[in-house]
Amino acid sequence: MPLPHATAPRDPPRLLERDAVAWLIFVLSTTLTLVLWDYSLSHRAARAQERFEYRSEKELSILRSRLQAYEQVLLGGAAFFNASDDVSRKEWHDYIEQLNLDATLPGIQGTGFTLIVRARDKSAHEQAMRAAGFADYRIHPDGNRDPYSSVTYLEPFTGRNLRAFGYDMYSEAVRREAMDRARDTGTLALSGKVTLVQETESDIQPGFLMYVPVYAKSVQIDDPTSRREHILGFVYSPFRARDLMRTIFGDSNKDIEIEIFDQSPTPENLLFASRYARRAAAHQRDLALVFGGRDWIARLRSSAEFEEATNSDEPLLILVGGLALDTLLFAVILGSARYRRRMQAAAALIAESRDRFQALVENVPGTVFRTEPTPPWHALHVSRGIEALTGEPPERFLSGATTCRAHLHPDDAADVLKAITQAVAEHGTYNVEYRVRSTDGAVRWASERGRASYDAGGTPLWIDGVILDVTDRKIAELAIRDLAFYDPLTGLPNRRLLIDRLHQQLAVSARSGLYGALLFVDLDKFKTINDTLGHQIGDRLLVEVAHRLRTTVREGDTVARLGGDEFVVMLDDLGRERDEATAVAESIGTKLLNNLARPYALTKQAVQCTPSIGLTTFRGQDLSVDELIRRADEAMYRAKAEGRNCLHVFGANDH
Ligand code: GH3
Ligand code: MG
Repeated sequence: MPLPHATAPRDPPRLLERDAVAWLIFVLSTTLTLVLWDYSLSHRAARAQERFEYRSEKELSILRSRLQAYEQVLLGGAAFFNASDDVSRKEWHDYIEQLNLDATLPGIQGTGFTLIVRARDKSAHEQAMRAAGFADYRIHPDGNRDPYSSVTYLEPFTGRNLRAFGYDMYSEAVRREAMDRARDTGTLALSGKVTLVQETESDIQPGFLMYVPVYAKSVQIDDPTSRREHILGFVYSPFRARDLMRTIFGDSNKDIEIEIFDQSPTPENLLFASRYARRAAAHQRDLALVFGGRDWIARLRSSAEFEEATNSDEPLLILVGGLALDTLLFAVILGSARYRRRMQAAAALIAESRDRFQALVENVPGTVFRTEPTPPWHALHVSRGIEALTGEPPERFLSGATTCRAHLHPDDAADVLKAITQAVAEHGTYNVEYRVRSTDGAVRWASERGRASYDAGGTPLWIDGVILDVTDRKIAELAIRDLAFYDPLTGLPNRRLLIDRLHQQLAVSARSGLYGALLFVDLDKFKTINDTLGHQIGDRLLVEVAHRLRTTVREGDTVARLGGDEFVVMLDDLGRERDEATAVAESIGTKLLNNLARPYALTKQAVQCTPSIGLTTFRGQDLSVDELIRRADEAMYRAKAEGRNCLHVFGANDH
């Protein structure tokens, strides 16, 4: 029958057994991952920004140094004019050619000189030019202006540059502004955005020009007024912006897309845009470039290549790898917490089951034990019941201070040892009953049932068993036995026990060859005593008779009551001779006769009662028990017949 399932209260889960801890660590580690990811992103962005700034400034410095190089060329040209009285076309050609600008400073459209021509000198000038071999020469565009300017030298003097020959740059506002500025400041002036006269119909590009003023020599030039007065012309260079910038930035520029605006970053002011300059970029900045008295705005953007190069996978790796590790950690901690809880629950169940088992063992009436398999059977486990039996607590057995054997009654020790040893050897169950001596001196009856357990090799490991206190049962059993074998009134053995002992005695006698004798005693006229003095006095008389019989014979002789007023006395060890044995028996019989004939002080007046005794001897098993009793009885009747109160020996005439 299953025991009712008792649920023991469980301890609250410890820290590492809680799911919440796993979640907490997950949140913390994920937060850390996100912080690292964010840091890595911003670090990447900062590095990219730094690199972008460095690269963009580098681009700008390339542009600046290129413009400065052009400035040097123009300043050199102006110096050439200043150093010479008259620079011939050929000299200019040679000078420019020697600079080898195509190779050293590619992108310059040309380097030339534009001459200031007063209105009054215009036709003389034109005629002089025509005379010098340029028949179609004229200052253009047409119109009355004063002064004019005219591109007189322009190297290389070929191709689209020829269109500029004789062109009056002064006629056009943007150019004029730059020329006036150069003139007034005495330094290089950069023009605004123009369309060069060199442009044909196709591939029209924005253009700009640089001017360096050339003044009349040997004159004091130190203020705008004197400069205006003595200006001769300008060494200048026209630039096609796109062609120029391409040579500057070329293909080498992979990181930066660039747009260059004159003055302000509006579409109409755009001088140059690199190929992908318009794309939406991650990085963008506007930088001012002040050169030749003019502000350029360089709008710099990161290129796709730049963004790809700076867009490292590190943040993504941190994010993905970190989250993967966080999840793994979470799974491990959660799994471990659940495992710990399961283990805890299992341990609680085991403890619960152990407690239940313990309670079960302790509640079993008697003593449940486990001992070593060999004497003196040291206890490995013993329940509290042992204390009631032996007076000693289980702890003393478990500590080895006492043993089961120490409490075993010495008379029973051999049987118990034999039974247990045999059962252990035969792998069987044993049942033994023995007496136990308690510490208070009491003796109790114990019934023990046990069985050994063995290892795979058959070696006994221990004995498990139960000991029950059967004292009460034992007392009852003894009482039942007494009822069966003893006469309740006198306490003497009854007929059954007499017959039993007689059987034994005959066997003993057969072996020893010694004679024994049977005395059959019947009280004379006992009925009368009953009738006159009452049954109770009769009983007391019987008890007294029993006592006198008992005290007259030896300890080892049997005195039995067959029933009514009949007693039998069995004598043994009467010698080897029949006559001798008969004589001894007769003398004992006579002694009995005399003792029983004495008055019994049962009433005020002593009661008188005599017996009649029949005697027969025996040796060995020649005669049956029944026959012997019958002969003794017969002899007794002879005594009655002979007048009572006498003894008759069964003889040859009796049957
Ligand atoms: P006899 O001399 O011939 O033996 O005469 P008796 O009266 O003794 O006759 P008998 O032996 O035949 O009778 C025995 C009597 O003993 C019969 C019975 O009334 C009496 N008796 C038998 N059992 C008991 C007993 O347990 N108690 C008492 N008080 N009397 C008993
Ligand atoms: Mg009688």
